[in-house]
Parts: sequence; structure tokens; C-alpha cells
Amino acid sequence: MRRITHWTNGAHYKTLEAASPSLHAVHDPVTGATQAEVELASRSDVDFIVAAATTAAASWAQTSLSRRARVLFAFRELMEAAADDLARIISSEHGKVLSDARGEVARGIEVIEFACGIPHLLKGSHSESVSTETDVHSMRQPLGVVAGITPFNFPAMVPMWMFPIAIACGNAFILKPSERDPSASIRIAEIWRDAGLPDGVFNVIQGDKVAVDALLEHPDVKAISFVGSTPIARYVYETGTKHGKRVQALGGAKNHMIVLPDADLETAADAAVSAGYGSAGERCMAISVVVAVGGVADELVSMIAERTRVINVGPSLDPASEMGPVVTGAHRDRVRDYIDAGEASGASIVVDGRGVEVQGNEGGFWVGPTLIDHVTTEMSVYTDEIFGPVLCVVRVDTYEQAVSLVADNPYGNGVAIFTRDGGAARRFANEVDAGMVGINVPIPVPVAYYSFGGWGHSLFGDTHVHGTEGVHFYTRGKVVTTRWADPSTRGTDLGFPTNK
Ligand code: NAD
Repeated sequence: MRRITHWTNGAHYKTLEAASPSLHAVHDPVTGATQAEVELASRSDVDFIVAAATTAAASWAQTSLSRRARVLFAFRELMEAAADDLARIISSEHGKVLSDARGEVARGIEVIEFACGIPHLLKGSHSESVSTETDVHSMRQPLGVVAGITPFNFPAMVPMWMFPIAIACGNAFILKPSERDPSASIRIAEIWRDAGLPDGVFNVIQGDKVAVDALLEHPDVKAISFVGSTPIARYVYETGTKHGKRVQALGGAKNHMIVLPDADLETAADAAVSAGYGSAGERCMAISVVVAVGGVADELVSMIAERTRVINVGPSLDPASEMGPVVTGAHRDRVRDYIDAGEASGASIVVDGRGVEVQGNEGGFWVGPTLIDHVTTEMSVYTDEIFGPVLCVVRVDTYEQAVSLVADNPYGNGVAIFTRDGGAARRFANEVDAGMVGINVPIPVPVAYYSFGGWGHSLFGDTHVHGTEGVHFYTRGKVVTTRWADPSTRGTDLGFPTNK
């Protein structure tokens, strides 16, 4: 059985508990078979790797901005060259189809490109003569060792929201990826090494709650970026801040797509299907609720259903597949249970994915795309994040009711509106309660030089990830006040210094 290990000091690292390591099975979602085992770090492993990162951070922080930027440029080139290889690794453990995995790598690379501009991004400001013979300048300095704890659904892109910027800022980074698809992290570590990143600046700790808790409590870890489900995001935020760390913790979502009566319904139906079922709905920005406003529902539902029925569900590495399996058998069962519950509570199952199987891969974790109409707000298919290929349709009479649905929802990650009315779109962008808004764009994931983050239960903390907020998160400010005074102005003065 293939064994997936940790990474530190520029090399694979085997757990210190080598005699009896804790292991987690990594499945092939297409067949359902176990394809590898990943070592789960103990507290001693975390201590060892944090110590290595602490040593590396000290000299990396002193490395010039030009040298750091050059490593970033080299890393970007090697990542581009390895993109297909990485996509294959992601597909084989996550289950998303290759084109989708290639897309996540491409979006991650955009963050590296942003981070290549670090000399410009870290420029401070300077004020001359703020007082007589006195100048002030500001700078931003790295924190030291920072960690990223990431979810299964984007094993390359979500870590890349974090580490290119953290490392460019002069920190050492420890990645704790999901134990469900851990291999991409190790491939990325090899690429960092090949790009010339000094040993110990990028590290991978494979693990579960034990590793997460050890990172949250470790005094030498200065900041935590987390992305995952809301209950764990809240836990990480509360525990990390209690231990004196800077924490940004992004949680789950329930993204609504509002379709106004004047929308181009064909375009809206295409968008709902792409954003609802892409990656089998396992995206934090997936559309899970279509809100049909003012009588468009019958026509819209029939257009969505027509497209949903012809989606090609199949093995992730088969280029003909449009949608692969979900990540585990337990997750498949959970998604099916939600569809059962929706049906039992009176919603109409327009397209039913519960019975879908893929010939030759009957053991795989399959759930077909599912469309549920006449969903109401008290049903669990509406209230809970299902994180599978399940699209719910809620019917409302007015725009105001649609906007209230979003406001009343505890999550506030992404939201979209489909309309031809510029005034309505502008009003929507202004008043809707969500961090990322799409106007005729169903998955409004911000580009790398803007920041990504939701509102409400979709984010705990103050800063969003990547963009200039990322630079801010991974650095701390320092302001230097300098005086080169004429000796003739010497003299003591016990009053509080004022500017003259
Ligand atoms: P998860 O919360 O189960 O796991 C996320 C990370 O936390 C993993 O590294 C995991 O090992 C760790 N973890 C799990 N249980 C833990 C515990 N009890 N204590 C400490 N650490 C623990 O999330 P997931 O299932 O891997 O990912 C799917 C979730 O992530 C969905 O809710 C999705 O919406 C969310 N997500 C959000 C965003 C966003 O930007 N807001 C992006 C991607 C995914």
C-alpha cells in the first residue's frame, strides 16, 4: 500500500511514531477502493516540524525581496509545467473530473502570479518632516511561522490562496491539508524545493484533529488560515485566538442564485447547471439554491431539468465525464439521505440522482445530479449545506422576498442574480448580504488581486484571503519615527512629545 508522509526540511518526513503510526485510508472515489494510506501526525511530529519552520523563517525573513520574488517566479513556471500532473493527482483522490482539477490549479497559479509582485506589495510609506527634523516611515514585517488548514474540495487551489503570499511576505508556512486527498500537497512541496525555496520554508503536516489542535496551541505558530466547514471554522477561530494567534477561518456556504422574470432563462439555466453540479456540488461557491422570482419557475425548472438529465457522470480521469463521484462513501450516503428527507417533507424530486451507478465502477461513490423543486425554507435540503450535486428551487413572488431569503440565511459566501435590468442588478449588489456577488455570473470567485471571503457563518475573523488582505494578514506593521536633530536643540523635556 502506498504511504503518504509529511514534508519538512526540503524532504519527505516519516512520523516519529514509525513503529505504530496512525494512518488514514485514502480512497479512489471512482472504484471505492483504498489506494493509499496517509500518516497522521502526532504532537511530537508537529513540534518537530514547527521547530524546523521556525529556524527557516528567521533566515527567510532576512532574504531580500528580489530573491524571494525570483523563487516565486521559478515556482510559478514549475507549477505551470506540472499542472496536468497535479490535476491528475487531484482527480484521482478527490473524484472531480480532470478539466475541473486543471481549472483549480490554474486559479491557484493566479495567486502565485499576484505574489510575484511582493516587492511592490510590501512598499511602506514615508513622511518627511512630520515634526521639526523628524521623519516617519512604515514597514510590514513577516510574522514567523504561519499555518494553513485546508479542506478536501480544493486540495491545490485553497492552499494556494494562502502560501504564495505568506511565503512571499517572508514567513515559513506549514500546510495541514485534508486527510482525504493529501497527495497534491506533497507534489507541491517537491515543486517548491525544485524552485529553490530554502528548506523548511514550506512544510506539510498530514493529520487530523490531533495535528490541528497541536498547531492551534503551539506558541511558535503565529497565524492560522483555515478553510472548511462552519463548525470547525468556528472552533479553529475560537481556539486559535484564545491561544493568541491571528486567525482567519472560512466556513461553509449555501449560495443562492436569484433569477428575475426579465432574465435570459436559457443563460440562467446553463449557469444553474454548471454551478450546481460542477465538481459534484463540492464547491464552497456552488449554487445550491435557485430562487425563481415571479412566475419564471415552471419554464426555468424544465430548462434546468433538460440539461441535468444529459450530464455525463463517469470516472474522473475519463475526458468524456462531466461529473465524477463524491469524495467518500459516507458523504454519498449523507447526500442521498438529504434527498430522501427533501422528498419526505413534500418537495418534488424532478431529477433523481440517488440510483445512479457507473458501469464497471459499481463500488464508486456515485450520486447523480439531482433537481428538487418546491423547496421551502424549513426543509433540511434548504437549511443545511449538503455539499453534493443537489440543486433546490425555491419559488417566490418578488425581488424583495428573494433578497430577504439571502439575508435570513446564516451563511453569506456567494450569491448571484440573473437579470437584464442594470438598475436591479446595481441595487442587488448594494443591498445583498454576502461577501461575493455575481451579476449574471454564477460562481463569482474573485480574481487573485481581489480578496476572497464570505459574511456571516461563512467567515470568522477580520480579513479575507489573498489579494492585499492576504498581504496584510501575513505581516505586521511597524512605524519608525526618526530624528536627526541639530545638537543645539538638545535638552530634557518631560512633557508628552508634541509635533512642532
Ligand atoms: P472540514 O471542516 O471537515 O475539514 C477542513 C479541515 O479541518 C481539514 O483539514 C480537516 O482535517 C480539519 N478538521 C476536520 N475535523 C476537525 C476537527 N474536529 N478538529 C480540527 N480539525 C478538523 O471540511 P471539508 O469537509 O474538508 O471541506 C468541505 C467544507 O469546506 C464545506 O463546508 C465547504 O463549504 C467548506 N469550504 C469553504 C470554502 C470557503 O472559502 N468558505 C472553500 C472551500 C471549502
